[in-house]
Amino acid sequence: MHPSSYYIDLESRYGAHNYHPIEAVIESASGCEMWDVEGKKYFDFLSGYSAINQGHCHPRIIKALQEQAAVLTLTSRAFYNNKLGEYQKFITSLLGFDKMLPMNTGAEGVETAIKLARRWAYAVKGIPENKAKIIVCSENFHGRTSTIISFSTDPSSFSQFGPFMPGFEVIPYNDLKALEEKLMDKHVAAFLFEPIQGEAGILVPDEGYLSGARRLCTAANVLMIADEIQTGLCRTGKMLCCDHENVKPDVLILGKALSGGTIPISAILANDEVMLTIKPGEHGSTFGGNPMASVVATVSLQVLIDENMAENAAQMGHLFREGLHKINSPYIKTIRGKGLMNAIVIDHPNKDAAWRLCERFKENGLLAKPTHGDKIRFAPPLMINESQLREALEIIEHSLPVLEQC
Ligand code: PLP
Repeated sequence: MHPSSYYIDLESRYGAHNYHPIEAVIESASGCEMWDVEGKKYFDFLSGYSAINQGHCHPRIIKALQEQAAVLTLTSRAFYNNKLGEYQKFITSLLGFDKMLPMNTGAEGVETAIKLARRWAYAVKGIPENKAKIIVCSENFHGRTSTIISFSTDPSSFSQFGPFMPGFEVIPYNDLKALEEKLMDKHVAAFLFEPIQGEAGILVPDEGYLSGARRLCTAANVLMIADEIQTGLCRTGKMLCCDHENVKPDVLILGKALSGGTIPISAILANDEVMLTIKPGEHGSTFGGNPMASVVATVSLQVLIDENMAENAAQMGHLFREGLHKINSPYIKTIRGKGLMNAIVIDHPNKDAAWRLCERFKENGLLAKPTHGDKIRFAPPLMINESQLREALEIIEHSLPVLEQC
């Protein structure tokens, strides 16, 4: 038995079957490359769903993690620690908010933003209790908790998990008219959206969507909540995707790359009017704001800045899309994205074509994964250089002929 088969079989026998991975068993990684248990090298074109923007095992992040782990890992928020406050000062001044609330996973960040919006609706805006509504977009992806899947439009996320949480209304993505109409309802507390829809297959809205939504939310006294868990932290070529339109949301949710791919770290940022509506004892998390996470998040942000990762993502993203456009394949229907958050849509009568193509990518040394059947996301770590990018484009080009036989 190959070592890979041994590990795949173990997971299949003893693990829940809630994922369907590409069959590469990774043992180590550095930068934008990974090695499997048989010693085969791959380019990582998923980056842990954009958690590894800084590159795998970034030496500064790992050093900070190890040094802090040897001294103090967790105090809980029952006591103070000497790292959280400095991290909060750093991230709020970097991103321009009064306050930050620390959590762990992205889904917890979204849950926190929902609770903040509802509390603000009752305590500040004056919406009658239990009447607050949050507007969301079709094809959204904000995580996997029971509340969050209550407003998913993807049956594979919500089917047979009901009953669902009320208080959410879905409008089409990239549709300012629909948003304007919904905002006439005085019970609307917030508009929760992704600046680019990631899991939906990298849906980039029209230019002017973010600034238009900002204008409408301000006029209606509704909180604009940007879920930048996937789009944030230089992925799209700016620190935040909202920066492309100089838009500042009222509530910003970050996660994933806030840790450089090490431990779960999320953060919710807002100004005092919103953040201080939650009082001691009303929300929290055992691990949120632990000293290890505080140190790791600070260094992860600093690495993005010091290594000009936003600029590199913008430049490499441009080269990448240009390279994809030069590949002459009848099977690529669409190429889209921003910075290093890109996708292709496969046009093929076989519904497994995108999966087969990703398997061929794997054989040829590149790891990517289809989303929603026919879309393949390409999101390498942001430190990828031009020669690595060109090598990856060659792998993509040389893999496409597999679609002639399937
Ligand atoms: N929000 C967005 C936009 C995401 O892409 C994700 C994860 O893919 C989440 C929230 C959930 O994050 P987590 O898996 O850390 O809970």
